[in-house]
Amino acid sequence: MAGAQKAGAQKAGRPSATVAITGANRGIGLELARQYAARGDNVIALCRRSTPALEALGVRVLTGVEVTSEEALRRAADALADTRLDVLIHCAGVLLRESLDDLNLDTIRRQFEINALGPLRLTAALLPRSLGRGARIGVITSRMGSIGDNTSGSRYGYRMSKAAVNMAGVSLARDLAPRGIAVALLHPGFVRTDMTGHNGLIDPPEAAAGLIARLDDLTIATSGGFWHMSGERLPW
Ligand code: NDP
Repeated sequence: MAGAQKAGAQKAGRPSATVAITGANRGIGLELARQYAARGDNVIALCRRSTPALEALGVRVLTGVEVTSEEALRRAADALADTRLDVLIHCAGVLLRESLDDLNLDTIRRQFEINALGPLRLTAALLPRSLGRGARIGVITSRMGSIGDNTSGSRYGYRMSKAAVNMAGVSLARDLAPRGIAVALLHPGFVRTDMTGHNGLIDPPEAAAGLIARLDDLTIATSGGFWHMSGERLPW
């Protein structure tokens, strides 16, 4: 499989990239893994538990990658110590429900832990040994984290955690530019996955194709931008 992948990338006229993706066991993360592998890139799927669908891709799978656990992320970083990543995609995320009438702050904290702190924690863990000049980082955020776009309210934990990860992504873009590492904040569209109860406007293949195109286009000059997977710039 790895040989066939490399041959695919070489046929497309570019060297095969090494791409690590969190939340790669299902939903949009799984589809990202599938599409990168299909075009010949070397995929490292990071997840808590693997799934038959992920195993069927034949890519390298690292399990136990719980993004709220510093210990788990240290173990993942150790496992990848000799691997130079060209692309790192933070796709793991949760959408939990809370109500203003009966506010559960723990539910809000949990979304911060996963959606906002997860990408920052993992980036910091991988930075010393696996991320260098030319690397690209994609944070799968949401337009629900856009303050300018918030016309419908509610979803406190999800919106606040995604706004926070947007800010983390911009700071990472500024801090990592001198090291030649670019960062994109990416909204995947309204996608039919478990998270949305399979409601949505598009399916994961369309979302993943757009996200991959955005990451292919990303440069240091555009680093720190917030885009819809279609390429449209989104308001903060
Ligand atoms: P899914 O619910 O299908 O998948 C969520 C993924 O996140 C799973 O792989 C899940 O792993 C993983 N995950 C959740 N919590 C943790 C954790 N604590 N540690 C490690 N992994 C975790 O969602 P989607 O594929 O739809 O969402 C992917 C990303 O896209 C999310 O960041 C989401 O916020 C974002 N997004 C999605 C939209 C949509 O319309 N679907 C719209 C806007 C943004 P496990 O199986 O172990 O739970």
